[in-house]
Amino acid sequence: MTGLGLLDSFGRVATDLRVSLIDKCNLRCTYCMPAEGLDWLAKPELLTGAEFVRLIGIAVHELGVTDVRFTGGEPLLRRDLPEIVAGVAALTPRPRIALTTNGIGLAKVADALAAAGLDRVNVSLDTLRAERFARITRRDRLPDVLAGLRAAQQAGLGPVKVNSVLLRGINEDEAAPLLRFCLAAGYQLRFIEQMPLDPQHGWDRSAMVTAEEILGLLRQDFELTPEPGERGSAPAERWLVNGGPDTVGVIGSVTRPFCADCARTRLTADGQVRSCLFAHTETDLRAALRGGAGDAELAELWRKAMWAKPAGHGIDRPEFAQPDRPMSAIGG
Ligand code: SAM
Ligand code: SF4
Repeated sequence: MTGLGLLDSFGRVATDLRVSLIDKCNLRCTYCMPAEGLDWLAKPELLTGAEFVRLIGIAVHELGVTDVRFTGGEPLLRRDLPEIVAGVAALTPRPRIALTTNGIGLAKVADALAAAGLDRVNVSLDTLRAERFARITRRDRLPDVLAGLRAAQQAGLGPVKVNSVLLRGINEDEAAPLLRFCLAAGYQLRFIEQMPLDPQHGWDRSAMVTAEEILGLLRQDFELTPEPGERGSAPAERWLVNGGPDTVGVIGSVTRPFCADCARTRLTADGQVRSCLFAHTETDLRAALRGGAGDAELAELWRKAMWAKPAGHGIDRPEFAQPDRPMSAIGG
């Protein structure tokens, strides 16, 4: 288990760090949060900006992390996001830095984030219809998201990616319109299968729109051919649209799992390392950090946590149990 990288017992090496900066959100997507929100972490439980930068620094300097993605909850709710990004951009070697956001408020901060060193953004958008947006997210904010997307592109945070979750009977008819919209605007669209990570534990396999179905819906309007080349540890299978060069991605986390090639490690907003979205154990780096642990000790805790990474999510197994933390508190 010793050595420099985040190796697990199945031989995978994690180089891609997902950092959830906050569990709170300004939307209430039905598949992610109940209308009333969740029991948010209290402020003292959240890592400070300086604590995040220290832990990410250890991941980069001692553990071989090359890619850092900020997520949440809604990461733009952290006012100190530009300072955190700048702190991470100052690390050597400098990791690639990306952000996953619902896009609300992005129009205001896109330039500042680009100046701080952010490289790319993914914006989540499940529908182009304002009424439907309000129904899915329980907030009437579609124009803010569209403005955020445009601002990200203008700020050079590209290629701007759009993440969409299709829900049966709600927005599956928008597979092709979403792709048309993204192609016209120059965004890269990726569809994500809905996973059992909702706090309500209401996920129902039969309600999930599968990768196969998504491809079928798209093929009614577009010609799709597999993009040549290796998928590597990237979760999205990419398809050339009408011969290319434009592409569309489909992330079949449930029906086409990529666990065997997973290169991810996760840090929650309260300083817990998780080896997998679906892990049932966490390693408390915050207590060690606040207790005065040195970098080497924190790195060793992180290595141990990753060594125990499970082989796969096991959603198809009869004994599968959803983790206690929902997606919004792990960092999607
Ligand atoms: N609030 C930000 C956003 O929406 O982009 C970042 C956090 S959100 C949890 C990250 C991504 O996870 C979003 O694209 C969202 O659609 C997706 N997501 C949330 N719950 C999901 C679920 N149960 N299955 C699949 N994707 C989910
Ligand atoms: Fe918020 Fe993102 Fe969850 Fe929607 S998917 S409720 S935007 S955290």
